[in-house]
Amino acid sequence: MTARTGRGPRRRVYSFGAGKADGRSSMREVLGGKGANLAEMTRIGLPVPPGFTISTEVCAEFEAAGGRVPRQLAGEVAKALRRVERIMDARFGDAERPLLVSVRSGARVSMPGMMDTVLNLGLNDRTVEGLAAQADARFAWDSYRRFVQMYADVVLGVSMERFEHRLESLKERRRVRLDTEIGADDWRRLVGEYFALVEEHTDRPFPQEPSEQLWGAIAAVFRSWKTPRAVTYRKLNRIPEAWGTAVNVQAMVFGNMGDDCATGVAFTRDPSTGARLFYGEYLKNAQGEDVVAGIRTPQPLARENRAPEQAHLPTLEEEMPRAYRELSRIRSTLEKHYCDMQDVEFTIQSGRLWMLQTRNGKRTARAAVKIAVDMAREGLITREQAITRVDADSLEQLLHPTLDPEADKRVIAKGLPASPGAANGSVVFSADSAEAKAKAGEKVVLVRIETSPEDIHGMHAAEGILTARGGMTSHAAVVARGMGKSCVVGCGALQISYERGEFRVDDRVVRAGDEITIDGSTGEVILGRVATVTPELGREFAELMRWSDAVRRLEVRTNADTPHDAKVAREFGAQGIGLCRTEHMFFEEERILAVREMILATDEAQRALALEKLLPMQRGDFVGIFRAMEGLPVTIRLLDPPLHEFLPHEEEGILEVARALGADVAAVRARIEERSEFNPMLGHRGCRVGITFPEIYRMQVRAIAEAACQVAESGVKVRPEIMIPLVSHVGELERLRALVEQEVQRVLGQSRGARVKIAIGTMIEVPRASLVADEIARYADFFSFGTNDMTQMTYALSRDDAGKFLPAYIEAGILTDDPFVSIDRDGIGALVRIGVERGRKTRPDLKVGICGEHGGDPKSVRFCDEAGLDYVSCSPFRVPVARLAAAQAAIAAKSRRRAPRARGARR
Ligand code: PEP
Ligand code: MG
Repeated sequence: MTARTGRGPRRRVYSFGAGKADGRSSMREVLGGKGANLAEMTRIGLPVPPGFTISTEVCAEFEAAGGRVPRQLAGEVAKALRRVERIMDARFGDAERPLLVSVRSGARVSMPGMMDTVLNLGLNDRTVEGLAAQADARFAWDSYRRFVQMYADVVLGVSMERFEHRLESLKERRRVRLDTEIGADDWRRLVGEYFALVEEHTDRPFPQEPSEQLWGAIAAVFRSWKTPRAVTYRKLNRIPEAWGTAVNVQAMVFGNMGDDCATGVAFTRDPSTGARLFYGEYLKNAQGEDVVAGIRTPQPLARENRAPEQAHLPTLEEEMPRAYRELSRIRSTLEKHYCDMQDVEFTIQSGRLWMLQTRNGKRTARAAVKIAVDMAREGLITREQAITRVDADSLEQLLHPTLDPEADKRVIAKGLPASPGAANGSVVFSADSAEAKAKAGEKVVLVRIETSPEDIHGMHAAEGILTARGGMTSHAAVVARGMGKSCVVGCGALQISYERGEFRVDDRVVRAGDEITIDGSTGEVILGRVATVTPELGREFAELMRWSDAVRRLEVRTNADTPHDAKVAREFGAQGIGLCRTEHMFFEEERILAVREMILATDEAQRALALEKLLPMQRGDFVGIFRAMEGLPVTIRLLDPPLHEFLPHEEEGILEVARALGADVAAVRARIEERSEFNPMLGHRGCRVGITFPEIYRMQVRAIAEAACQVAESGVKVRPEIMIPLVSHVGELERLRALVEQEVQRVLGQSRGARVKIAIGTMIEVPRASLVADEIARYADFFSFGTNDMTQMTYALSRDDAGKFLPAYIEAGILTDDPFVSIDRDGIGALVRIGVERGRKTRPDLKVGICGEHGGDPKSVRFCDEAGLDYVSCSPFRVPVARLAAAQAAIAAKSRRRAPRARGARR
């Protein structure tokens, strides 16, 4: 927020209505997303009830003044309110033609359900009669009791439950199920009871004066920016605290005035699959909150999106064809205007359609890809825009398992398929228990009657979410989709009892702790754990990847140690292996004994014997990998970890090695003891092992070269690259390069003329190596930045222990990202840049990549592009993420190059 010190912002209130607006969609920083789009919709001629937006800057003023609205606001609000009165031909507080308003929050980015709203504001004992005269008494008193309930909850802090309790007992007394079955007199009496409740709790009568109500609501919305649930949501979604919320005050329109009224929400395309369907739901004779609250089951908007289980429900298209046709026209106007899928709220009052909100719709990763590609094909956006529309990180969701269609499954119920993917786990009934169990390592499915913003932490912790109530736009559905979690909602067959910790479906009882599976793509709820399969990626995904490949500069390789992983990565589009960690091969069960013999050997002869056992195994590994990566580069790193990591600690393992070596158990134990180190990560590891035990590296090089010859001789192209880890001094690489070259020459000399060229390079992971990269480059054909170790060593942050305290750093705002996830541009990034620059000074054609975990993180990929690296290497499932992120980075670079030219041209 940019409230100026002293006088504050020049303007605090922005009006909209009757085709004119002070704001526009580009002003979301000041007006919040909702306010900016209300202004924009008004500008483009859509039917929007008039109103005004109090800017986010006032939120900062409000906080700075200790929770008081600035004095100067009063005049601006009064003026804007008069304009609304004129357009609506009604007056705030007027007994005959009362203007009623809604007061809603609206931050820069949507925070669904996190902040507060008050509807029907302006009602009091006099205006309610005016409303009754205009509409009918039942409606007027129902609106009044809704208002009192909401206002008391949001503004006066009287818990909603107390009101709900009174309402429920009224319904019981009248033996009715729905609010719509309650008459005017009963509502009137209930309002009286509500007043008594308010007075009991606040020691003051309920405020009758509309302007007092308005200022109370405005302050409450500003306050709601700071509620714990909003703060948690912002933390999870990395939304800056300083942004603040705007307040939107808008003339009320009513969807609950009778059977020619309705209220609903719609997506201009299917937010789950991305299909070009008009997708949404509505409730007849209801107010907006009723749709989202999930108390009544909403009806589908159009015939095309009616699910089989909704076959009995009429659609808006059938019930109110005129309003539906207008809404359809608006759907296409909005898509053409915003060039993106929109999520809208609308109300139909006495047959007349009003638009209450539009915003870019949240969508699953699958839908994001389809919508972006389809819109580019439809000519709404360019291919480059399509590439930037998809959150690269979210692509991983698409690669996750779905239910195995062949697996047996006992479907016990079916709800609405709210967010795709399959999830299984044990049942929990509360967010707290979801969090606690997930922390203890248990997979859980959170089962709730419906979710609310208080459940966010539990939803985060759970594998999937299942609710008994709610539609496709209910809280659970929207939030789960955003999180990429499997979710089934509105599963009415579930009878949930929190007290008993169980749910029933007919006679079947499922208790907390029992395992279930949910399928967020079909809505099925299944007993037990069902097998899953990796999904096929759609045509649009392949298309998006092709477009990305056409624009990216960075090559994308993978970190893979087995032929299987190599194949998976290749299918995902990896252009080579950037890191094959050979130590993983050493841990395999039948090899570990030979590895231990090699390490604990007392003389060279003994060690040679052990290495001879390992050689054919290593050769076999490399043959498999070379074949899987035919024609593509494969970077194999020589042994890296401290040797003691391979040694046995239990008695049985020690005995086994002693037997194999024909040595005394006590002597073996003593040798193990000798190998232990105080600081193993800075100890006898990486190339230091190669320097002290050259025969180990020689065996590995021999295995690589022999495998390469063998594969090449069979007609398969191989491109091996041998990488030396943990180099910090040029002397290390000079010596080890000579060793590698010598061994390679020896093997090639013995081969039957295999045409194999092996590059030799090094990891740059010790900070010193970056600083002396010009020297090191004399002996390296390539560099690969090992940013995991580089982060550890530069930050003095243990890779294995940082988890205990790093979250506190992020919580406290000292760090915004975990530096092991997203590269620290300022520190580690600077070292990378120095390494690249100095290395290329010596060897301009030096190939440079990254193989730390950062290679699959979109922000870090962007950094790598900027720093001029040639490739990134990441885990197989992140390869598509990196391909897209690399394309996005290239597009960003292009627009940066263009920007200064454009500025120059203006001058
Ligand atoms: C690194 O340090 O960044 C790296 C890739 O190597 P490892 O994670 O195996 O230490
Ligand atoms: Mg390393």
